[in-house]
Amino acid sequence: MITSALTIDVEDWFQVSNLEPYVPRDRWASFALTVERNVDTILALLSEKQIRATFFILGWIAHRVPSLVRKIAGEGHEIASHGWDHQRVSALSPAAFAEDVKRSREVLEQISAGPVLGYRAPSFSIDAERQWAHSILAEQGYQYSSSVAPFQHDHYGWPGAPRFAWRPLSGSPFLEVPVSTVRFGRWCLPAGGAVFSGSIPIPCRASCCVRSSAKASLLFSTSILGRWTRYCPGRRAALTSCTFAPTLIVLLCPPD
Ligand SMILES: [Zn+2]
Repeated sequence: MITSALTIDVEDWFQVSNLEPYVPRDRWASFALTVERNVDTILALLSEKQIRATFFILGWIAHRVPSLVRKIAGEGHEIASHGWDHQRVSALSPAAFAEDVKRSREVLEQISAGPVLGYRAPSFSIDAERQWAHSILAEQGYQYSSSVAPFQHDHYGWPGAPRFAWRPLSGSPFLEVPVSTVRFGRWCLPAGGAVFSGSIPIPCRASCCVRSSAKASLLFSTSILGRWTRYCPGRRAALTSCTFAPTLIVLLCPPD
């Protein structure tokens, strides 16, 4: 069976982009964190299924709960960056983006005592107008990004971008691994991501995982905003429909 990358974004409910207008960042510290409980649920499930995954973690979360990062790393999962405080690339200057990805990487490496080589932009916000972000990530020592949605969403997307892993920088091994999609006729539709991976029927989702992976590695991703397995039993079932591994492992051992 072809191996796909399973990825999980580690952020709390008040940090999602859709709540940005209503929950300013200076109020974040006033909320009780739910992220630890939800990560524990996912770690138990992954342990039960003997699956290792990639966790894209906010630097803000790592700084607040370093024990959570150590726990994830200690169970053999890949630690990767989701930026510092969920600023979309589209909201940052190149200099501010460089500082964001440097700061988040440093705190994650310090806590996990291991290299952080992957980055996912909040809301898949690297697009045709923000291609400079790939250059900055490579300069900062990242080896891959999973930050492009090759379809049009209401506030992000890069229609026409490659649907499978590709090298955005000439002469560089740096990789962009876009979120999973499935093609229906002329439409390219999302199949990964917090909402989409839960809304597509399981057989279709498993099918697109396998078929897409036949061409290149892809991501079957979610984020831990809620009670992941309790409200979405389909996601639990989907874990037995495909073979999964951390993104780095999939990239290092691509299918023929
Ligand atoms: Zn996120």
